[in-house]
Amino acid sequence: QADTAPTAAAKDAVKAADRAHVFHSWSAQKLIDPLAVAGAEGSYFWDYDGNRYLDFSSQLVNTNIGHQHPKVVAAIQEQAAKLCTLAPGFAVDVRSEAARLIAERTPGDLDKIFFTNGGAEAVENAVRMARLHTGRQKVLSTYRSYHGATAAAINLTGDPRRWPSDTASAGVVHFWGPFLYRSPFHATTEAEECERALAHLADTIAFEGPQSIAAIVLETVPGTAGIMVPPAGYLAGVRELCDRYGIVFVLDEVMAGFGRTGKWFAAEHWDVTPDLLTFAKGVNSGYVPLGGVAISGAIAETFDTRPYPGGLTYSGHPLACAAAVATIGAMAEEGIVEHAAHLGENVIGPALAEIAERHPSVGEVRGLGAFWAVELVRDKETREPLVPYNAGGADNAPMAEFTAACKQAGLWPFVNMNRTHVVPACNITEAEAKEGLALLDEALTVADRHTTAGAA
Ligand code: PLP
Repeated sequence: QADTAPTAAAKDAVKAADRAHVFHSWSAQKLIDPLAVAGAEGSYFWDYDGNRYLDFSSQLVNTNIGHQHPKVVAAIQEQAAKLCTLAPGFAVDVRSEAARLIAERTPGDLDKIFFTNGGAEAVENAVRMARLHTGRQKVLSTYRSYHGATAAAINLTGDPRRWPSDTASAGVVHFWGPFLYRSPFHATTEAEECERALAHLADTIAFEGPQSIAAIVLETVPGTAGIMVPPAGYLAGVRELCDRYGIVFVLDEVMAGFGRTGKWFAAEHWDVTPDLLTFAKGVNSGYVPLGGVAISGAIAETFDTRPYPGGLTYSGHPLACAAAVATIGAMAEEGIVEHAAHLGENVIGPALAEIAERHPSVGEVRGLGAFWAVELVRDKETREPLVPYNAGGADNAPMAEFTAACKQAGLWPFVNMNRTHVVPACNITEAEAKEGLALLDEALTVADRHTTAGAA
């Protein structure tokens, strides 16, 4: 245990090896200073200096049942003792059971599960299935979206992370999804936004050529790009357009799935069934890498007698599937999905609405379940974002100061551009959620100083 005890020497060793040998995602390697974490439990994690953080990020919105859930830890340990790995071509009890439990919870006839190691691979395979099923190539996705960092997934992504890979984007067309607060259609009501967004999509399809479009890929509730809950009727309208033109409808629930929005899958809120549904993250709370595609009967049939040309060495890995079986079991037994809905309606939603009233820096709060965005602005009237789109360096100082204030207070926030997202574990207790919201409230006074009202 000496190596992992939270001593100053242990911290130095972890940080030195990290600096020397770990190449971090999305980062300029010499400009970052990752926190060395010594342990985690439930809604908290802690560093080697004895600082404890309330995790309002769920890491990357994946620890839906918190850290170190004993039932999941035990299931992984038991599976490791029994059978660590087996190639995807075999039938394995724990893989069959994970697929059954997932298929039972996905909407409609999404009854076959193709397992991957995470979200991007799920999106890659959904696109491949759609192209093979339709014999068409083009794929449509929205500007305000994130779908992963592999080839097709990063090209589908709407945010600036795709820019360095844009040369490979042949076949991908971006359009605007609905987002009333910053309406691309200058709408003033949800109904108007819905109607204009659907008309815009219908035009996009017409001008791209319906017969060339394999799929429309949407996040049911776009997550990283701002937790934009779609207006009533929007997803049903997209479903209708897909049906009219034989386009495969893919809902990406990598972030929104598995309880996050207060339902097993967010599509349930609008009673919509896609043809393919991608998942990852919350499926096993991120304890072992796992993702997948839930496939409709019609698309699965395409590959009844024709081989599916895709696979992964670790598809349906027994340890990951054991973690999924235990996670889904714990979520059902402990009422975690219902708890997330309760948090959204009675704890997080009302508290954020009240915070928005008091803080000049809060332009809008929106979300559902344990999935909320706080949009920070320089001016409530003009809605000018607190920092410019894709700001870095000094331009991003207001958000950097706000983030530092949260961490200083013991709250680990999820921050993206001019937003902070309130995305704790779906089983965070009410008391912990309230504690985090109070810390957020306090940290927002730092953002307030950068508003026109604060500067006046
Ligand atoms: N799709 C969505 C909606 C996501 O939020 C993410 C990751 O945040 C991905 C896909 C990519 O998942 P992964 O990072 O597991 O590849």
